[in-house]
Amino acid sequence: MKKIAVLTSGGDSPGMNAAVRAVVRKALFHDVEVYGVYQGYLGLLTNNIKPMERGTVGDKIQRGGTFLQSARCPEFKDKEVRQKGIDNLNALGIEGLVVVGGDGSYRGAQRLSEEGINTIGIPGTIDNDINGTDFTIGFDTALNTIIDAIDKIRDTASSHERTFIIEVMGRDAGDLALWSALAGGAETVLVPEHKKDIKEVADKIQQGIERGKKHSIIVVAEGVMSGDECAEQLKKYINVDTRVSVLGHMQRGGSPSGVDRVLASRLGAYAVELLMEGESGLAVGIQNNKLTKTKFEDIFSSQHVLDERMFRLTNELSI
Ligand code: ATP
Repeated sequence: MKKIAVLTSGGDSPGMNAAVRAVVRKALFHDVEVYGVYQGYLGLLTNNIKPMERGTVGDKIQRGGTFLQSARCPEFKDKEVRQKGIDNLNALGIEGLVVVGGDGSYRGAQRLSEEGINTIGIPGTIDNDINGTDFTIGFDTALNTIIDAIDKIRDTASSHERTFIIEVMGRDAGDLALWSALAGGAETVLVPEHKKDIKEVADKIQQGIERGKKHSIIVVAEGVMSGDECAEQLKKYINVDTRVSVLGHMQRGGSPSGVDRVLASRLGAYAVELLMEGESGLAVGIQNNKLTKTKFEDIFSSQHVLDERMFRLTNELSI
C-alpha cells in the first residue's frame, strides 16, 4: 500500500489529534504517502483531501478537538453519494483509509470497505461505548474533566449543605457517569442501563441528612433525564436545597490526558500496520492492555454493556 488517508468523524474527542499524528508519522516512517481528509465524510465528498507531511502534525499531540475537523454528513448513508467519495480517493490513488470516530463513523467505514476502499476504524469518542475495546480515545480526559468539576462542586455543596445534581454526557452509555461517580465519591449515579426509582434516591439522601451528612452529589447521565428533571422529581419526595450543574460540551474539550495520548498513538500506529498488511473492515482497540482488531460486524452485533460489578461497587461505597 503506497497511499493512505485519515479522517476524523462524529463527535470530536480529546486525543483525536494524537491519533491522526500517529497515523501520519507511522505511515511516513514506512514510506507510505498519507493524506488528511478535512471535515470527516463530508470532506471525502467535497474532495477536501490534502497531503500530510511530518510537520503538518507537529505541535498537535497536546491539542484537544480535531485539527482535521469533524462534520455530520447524513447523506453518506446513500451508496451513490458515497461513490463520489470513493471516486475522489481513487483519483488520488489512495487505497486505504483510517477513520477515527464512533459507532456511526464505523458504519460508514464498513460500507467503504465493502465498496473497495480498505478501511480501519479507531475508537474516538468520550462515551466509551464501542465494543471491541476496553477504552475509547477521549474517555479518560473527559472523565478527568468531570472529576475536576465534581471536586469543585463538592466544596461549595459542603459549605451550603446542598444537594448537587451533575448532568454528564452519555445518551445510551453510562460509563462516564459511572466512572466519575465512583471516582468523585458521589452518593448516587443514574445511568441509562439501569432504571432507578427516584424515591429510592430521595430516601438515601434523607437518611444521609439524618446521619449528619453535609451534602449529597448525584451524577445523572443525560440519557436518563436532564439534571433539571431530576431535581423536579426529587422535590416530590424530599425537601432539600438542590442545585443543578450541566457540564455540557466542556466534557468534550481540553488537552488530552497522558493515557489518551498514549492510547491514541498506539491505536493510530496499529491501524497503519493493519492497512499495510492489506487488512480492511476492522476496528482497532485495546483489551487487557493488548492491541486488538475486531470486525465491524462483530462490533455492531451487540450492545455495549456497563460494568455491573463497578455499578454495584459505586452503590456499596456510597452508603
Ligand atoms: P459519536 O459517538 O461521537 O456521536 P459517531 O461516529 O457515532 O460519533 P455519528 O454522527 O453517528 O457519530 O456518525 C458520524 C458520521 O458517520 C455520520 O455523519 C455519517 O456521515 C456517517 N454514518 C453514520 N451512520 C452511517 C451509516 N449507516 N452508513 C454510512 N455512513 C454512516
